[in-house]
Amino acid sequence: MANNRKLVLAMDQGTTSSRSILFDETGTAVSKSQKEFRQIFPKSGWVEHDPREILETQIGTAVEALESAGFSASDVSAIGITNQRETTLIWDRNTGEPVSNAIVWQDRRTADVCARVRKSHGETIRKKTGLEVDPYFSASKISWLIENVPGVRERAKAGELAFGTVDTWLIWNLTGGEKHVTDVSNASRTMLFNINKLEWDDELLGIFGVPRQILPSVVPSSHLVGEVSEPEALRGIPVAGIAGDQQAALFGQRCFAEGDAKSTYGTGCFLLQNTGTEPASSKHRLLTTVAWQIGDRCEYALEGSVFIGGAVIQWLRDSLGIIGSAAEVEPLARKAGSSDGVFFVPAFAGLGTPYWDPTARGLITGLTRGTGRGQIGYAALEAIAFQTAELLEAMQKDSHREIPELRVDGGASKNDLLMQIQADLLQIPVVRSTVTETTSLGAAYLAGLATAVWDSTDKIAEGELSGERFEPSISGDEAAERIEEWKRAVRLSLGWAV
Ligand code: ADP
Repeated sequence: MANNRKLVLAMDQGTTSSRSILFDETGTAVSKSQKEFRQIFPKSGWVEHDPREILETQIGTAVEALESAGFSASDVSAIGITNQRETTLIWDRNTGEPVSNAIVWQDRRTADVCARVRKSHGETIRKKTGLEVDPYFSASKISWLIENVPGVRERAKAGELAFGTVDTWLIWNLTGGEKHVTDVSNASRTMLFNINKLEWDDELLGIFGVPRQILPSVVPSSHLVGEVSEPEALRGIPVAGIAGDQQAALFGQRCFAEGDAKSTYGTGCFLLQNTGTEPASSKHRLLTTVAWQIGDRCEYALEGSVFIGGAVIQWLRDSLGIIGSAAEVEPLARKAGSSDGVFFVPAFAGLGTPYWDPTARGLITGLTRGTGRGQIGYAALEAIAFQTAELLEAMQKDSHREIPELRVDGGASKNDLLMQIQADLLQIPVVRSTVTETTSLGAAYLAGLATAVWDSTDKIAEGELSGERFEPSISGDEAAERIEEWKRAVRLSLGWAV
């Protein structure tokens, strides 16, 4: 179909699914495709993905998004890539063959290594990277692959292997092995990148035993990287935007001004606040991270990270089987009307902000004979909201600034009951974006800014994004009391350390 519209294709490689969305120059989604892929749990606390499945589902959805709407590669101005962050891959530079499955951000296999590194280098690492030493980030996962997969150490030293986060893996394959790059936002999640100097750091590489020759080069988030060579259906489209999923969502929510904040409810929950061109350090165990770089201008964010958000609903579906689909949790919980004293701490992958304890484990407390599926479902939704409330508390203490309202997005933000519980606990309005796919939109904006689809962020900021508002409906005292009860349950979960 011939047309003169300026289209941008966003590839959003998430933790549970690969998505591709084609946006027009008004930021409206023209077509969409999504495919789930396998979550592999080889041992307790281990989470892996098959790199080939990541690639095939991602490319499959991109081609489908184009073809289902009758477009071809020549109709698309640019591709923007956004991805699950920290997930770690190593592959052979000649054959493209991965040395193992990808180790997913949720994987806890390196908890022991991290405990040791934290003791001796925790402060240095925090200063240089803005991060807490935790298995969450890529560095200890790379170390693990080097130490445990036969031949990797030697081949890495010999320059035969390439490391990448998921953005790097996708771009390497899309460009036929020509571009081995990542952007500053993804690099800032590896724990090997100095966020003050914006470069890989030899001291950090030494601490984790990572040879420099496996690392990708680091580029701005909005930047002409190269053209797609494979597959043919996408050939010639420039890759022009890269950002980790949470940073892309911050951009997609148009949090361009210092102080702007958003919360995303996906597999995990992530609250990010734009802090401008200087990295702000946290006193309440938030992370300091690169938001994006456009041209020479790098902006930073404070971040609170919750590992298990919407994933707790998947667990109700897949492990307990008490719901048939994620959406069913809402009517189920509404019918119950409350959690009736039940607290559910889903510390399946340890706890992130503000506890940073990879050994914490999940628990459900307050069970009675009256407890049923509904109360458990309700408590699971509350768990998502309680965890986010703790993030906001830390952020407000750090920035000494009231956040007047919270902009939200992500798969689980579709749940009205969850959003109402969230507004009640936070005591501020929760405003859901009209575009639920803000992560993809952010990646599209970054790519479109590098290819003249949009000429400035001011242009992007035109037009309304705010959708439904949820206002607090309980008293501040009641909210504070609920949060205190939640924290008691969390303390039990921390005491459950393995
Ligand atoms: P990701 O990008 O991390 O893969 P998404 O933004 O696609 O995540 O959100 C998917 C998550 O949202 C899943 O964990 C799912 O359980 C949860 N989810 C989806 N719909 C609902 C709903 N109606 N209520 C609660 N959680 C939901």
